Amino acid sequence: MTTIQHHPDDELLLAHAAGSLDRGHSVVVASHVENCAHCRERMRVFEAVGGALLDELPAATMAPDALARTMAAIDTPPAPRAMPAPVPAPHPVLPPGMTWPRSLAGCPATRWRWLGPGMRWSRVTLPDDPAANVFLLRIGAGKNLPMHTHSDSELTQVLYGTFHDGRALFGPGDFDEADGSFHHQPVVQAGGECICLASVRGRVLFNGLVARTLGALVGM
Ligand SMILES: [Zn+2]
Repeated sequence: MTTIQHHPDDELLLAHAAGSLDRGHSVVVASHVENCAHCRERMRVFEAVGGALLDELPAATMAPDALARTMAAIDTPPAPRAMPAPVPAPHPVLPPGMTWPRSLAGCPATRWRWLGPGMRWSRVTLPDDPAANVFLLRIGAGKNLPMHTHSDSELTQVLYGTFHDGRALFGPGDFDEADGSFHHQPVVQAGGECICLASVRGRVLFNGLVARTLGALVGM
């Protein structure tokens, strides 16, 4: 397996561990953590620290009836289990050897849609946050996304293949966070296509008119 070179920073992992990250960004961070032993260990530490901080909170912050309600909840018999077996959510056809991220279980995604020459995308719907702007990008070998920057924050997890964005090489399992501080143009390596999972807050700002029109079409 390829060594993962690019990880989410501590701020993102802490927010993810604390549950304070928005759902779109959270599923992308989770898709990284599920395949990265290094980040799983950091998450474990953050969660332990979070638990220790909760233990330090003064008892006065609890509602007076908290104990009674907790005991009542323990005494309440569990609801009968009539949960239907989870229906696998539809997702686009993947290349051989690529698996669907576990963080996207239950999140339907569209078939591959044309975005430009050698470029396809699939809209991912998060049932608990339908407004989240999450999608897969599938870029052909040797192709590139138009030069762009971001109005807010974009998280990207490489699920398949390799691209270079002018700063560094990103391979399977690598994670990237981009914001408005730089313009980049991801170029997929000649050896094969690349599939990434992305979550965008704000807008992707393309530099060229044609690219801007394309971006507007797909709501990026
Ligand atoms: Zn990692």
